Amino acid sequence: MMDISTEKYRSNARKGIENRVLQKALYNLQVRFGRGTAEAYRRLPEGPELRREAHRMRAEAIENLDILLERLAENIRGRGGQVYFAEDASAAIDYCLNLARSRRVRRVVKGKSMVTEEIGLNDALIAAGIDVAETDLGEFIIQLAGEHPSHIIAPAIHKTRKDIGRLFVEKLSIPFTDDPPTLTRAARKALREKFLSADMGITGCNLACAETGHITTLSNEGNIRMSTTLPRLQVVFMGMERITARLEDHDALLRLLARGAAAQTMAGYVSYIGGPRQGWENDGPEEFHLVILDNGRSRMLADPRFREMLYCIRCAACLNVCPVYGKIGGHAYGFTYSGPVGAVVTPLMVGPNRAADLCRGETLCEACKDACPVDIDIPRMLLELRAMLAEGDRAWKVRRTAPLEKMFYGLWAFLVTHPRLYHLVQQATFWGAKLMPRHDGRIRKLPPGLDGWTLSRDLPEPAAESFRQRWKRSGLSV
Ligand code: SF4
Repeated sequence: MMDISTEKYRSNARKGIENRVLQKALYNLQVRFGRGTAEAYRRLPEGPELRREAHRMRAEAIENLDILLERLAENIRGRGGQVYFAEDASAAIDYCLNLARSRRVRRVVKGKSMVTEEIGLNDALIAAGIDVAETDLGEFIIQLAGEHPSHIIAPAIHKTRKDIGRLFVEKLSIPFTDDPPTLTRAARKALREKFLSADMGITGCNLACAETGHITTLSNEGNIRMSTTLPRLQVVFMGMERITARLEDHDALLRLLARGAAAQTMAGYVSYIGGPRQGWENDGPEEFHLVILDNGRSRMLADPRFREMLYCIRCAACLNVCPVYGKIGGHAYGFTYSGPVGAVVTPLMVGPNRAADLCRGETLCEACKDACPVDIDIPRMLLELRAMLAEGDRAWKVRRTAPLEKMFYGLWAFLVTHPRLYHLVQQATFWGAKLMPRHDGRIRKLPPGLDGWTLSRDLPEPAAESFRQRWKRSGLSV
């Protein structure tokens, strides 16, 4: 499993907010990708209503997950491929390492895969003495920098052209430039040698189709096509939820995925892969292995509150519109998945207590639900997680947290249902506010415990006359 630093959410978020370069990059990302998504859905032949239909397709697939996965496996085995169901990260890694050792693999080229990030596959391969090269340009940059992706589809979004230029001077020994075509040519040259000498290609899977028995990957650089056709051995890692029942569903979801991810009609390259090279084919691997990963997904499947999270096709549309992600960036979330999807998936994968701040940090503005191509109700699941943290939950081994907050809301509920007492407290607040540091009719700093509110903004002083008093004075009746 990759490093988990969800406990540092607050301090990392603060660092992200203070990083001006990151702020500009996040703004540009959300303008470039986020704003075009709704229009891209409108331009669909079926119109934006296809999102609801896609929700239904995903629900049906998840309800029949066991049957569909078996059908996919059967179809792939029928073409000479091998399928392995991995219960957790270590089972998936062991399978891949055993395969690499037994086939004397020395070099691996990888297409972008969030699932292999989730299980920390690169570190395990490198520790076994295998050279691993990420071939997606963004992932290649991140790997050279020794970092983790900060966005699902744009992993190096937090880096400027100058950062990349300096990195390439250090790691690729080229003269400094911040010209994107020159930098891209340098990366291509470095990667071409790796492609030609790799023994194993590893990719993720955007979607799989049970009916036809193939997996589909999208890229905009053609690197996945090379990773899947040049090496003699191919391994695909797939989260077990990424399955569709029929080819029509697969087609609709693929179109939605490209629109949600980058407001594109379709990605530049679409690869359909269903097994090793057949006798009549010129290209393709001699061996094909599909690793289908559970790693906590069965627990989500078993809980009706969170089953909907398995409908996710990891398009990142929710990141591109989220006001919280747009300020703090992906690294603050402390795990592979960031933004609204990460705020739900990560607590469910690493434990709600350990990642409590992630689901509390989101605003519940519902922009993620509106942008999601499969209409997932993320705000509802954020509330479910918060309720779980407030009340505790045996099935998920969740300890109750924030008892003071619970007490505060209990007190608040009591006050608002007792008008006289509420009025007294209102008066006390009015006079209490006079004792706090003020300027121009605004409170500059609240007392400890409440001072988070005034950390970056002032608070208006309470009005001298409350709404209830004004209402009474107006003589109006309800
Ligand atoms: S929750 Fe929806 S918008 Fe977010 S990554 Fe998943 S499918 Fe895309």
